[in-house]
Amino acid sequence: MNKKGVMVVLSGFSGSGKGTLMKALLERYPNYALSISCTTREPRPGEVNGREYYFVAQEEFLRMIRENQLMEHACYCGQYYGTPRPYVERQLAEGKDVLLEIDIQGALQIKEKYPDTVLVFVMPPSAEELKNRLCGRGTETEEVIAARLHRAVEEAQDMDRYDYLLVNDDLDQCVALLHGVIQSQHFRTSSQKSTIEEMRKELKSFT
Ligand code: 5GP
Repeated sequence: MNKKGVMVVLSGFSGSGKGTLMKALLERYPNYALSISCTTREPRPGEVNGREYYFVAQEEFLRMIRENQLMEHACYCGQYYGTPRPYVERQLAEGKDVLLEIDIQGALQIKEKYPDTVLVFVMPPSAEELKNRLCGRGTETEEVIAARLHRAVEEAQDMDRYDYLLVNDDLDQCVALLHGVIQSQHFRTSSQKSTIEEMRKELKSFT
């Protein structure tokens, strides 16, 4: 078994239910850690600094980029988002599987820098359902909803660059599938180089 944790990127259209999926995964299984991103966007009602995001000023965000404190960063609908490096690296070293809920721009940056990362795209059951969920939230203005739908059209162009595509229809089923996909990564030969080396060495010692 691979001792180091697996890095998992979870993306999906705004309103795909990936937040709920992630929460359920963290509640049901013990070996996951959630990366908390930094953003320059304003907190939504009910969001807490340090829980959903670290809400920072643009100046602070730019300083973090300059000081190489972010594993990736991107601009989404006019606001900056980024993944702080120290927490993720610490958790991976401790053997935790780390979840990054980030957009496609960040996903592709991470995959290029860390090719063993698993990229999972979460889809709503239908486009109609997505629109209803976005409008039903009641936390966004019409302008923001329109921008997010527009963004979804763009994101749909790149869905096939992900390793896995999950439809978030039945939450329980989707959580179990996601957990299975992530756990299977521990058994990849590329994740088990030291086990392979040990076996080779031991076998050779018998000859
Ligand atoms: P929201 O404003 O709805 O919380 O997030 C908007 C988008 O930004 C979502 O697609 C979300 O996955 C993405 N996002 C959140 N954190 C990060 C991050 O650290 N990096 C990148 N690249 N995208 C992020």
